[in-house]
Amino acid sequence: MVIDFVKCPICHENINTFYISGGVCPACKGYFSSTAVANSRCSIKELKEERKEYREETMTKAQIKKMFDLSDDEISKIPSSNKYGKVRYRKVDVVKFLK
Ligand SMILES: [Zn+2]
Repeated sequence: MVIDFVKCPICHENINTFYISGGVCPACKGYFSSTAVANSRCSIKELKEERKEYREETMTKAQIKKMFDLSDDEISKIPSSNKYGKVRYRKVDVVKFLK
């Protein structure tokens, strides 16, 4: 499965194209044409950088478990985000939780 991300031209959210059905943005429910999607691909490099940054700033549950030996219950108390189709935890939030 190819997972691709586009920036919604209406709300500027980064959308996993997997979730786009019938040209309707899952974030703002706005309709955008395939032309708009094609145009937004111009910023794909920018998106990749943003994704890389996000990956560097966050970690997965498995990584937290391995690194800090926390239980699912403890990890569930840490704020999480699901920006690219996978739940990740910001390192700053993990550190805050550990303090
Ligand atoms: Zn949108």
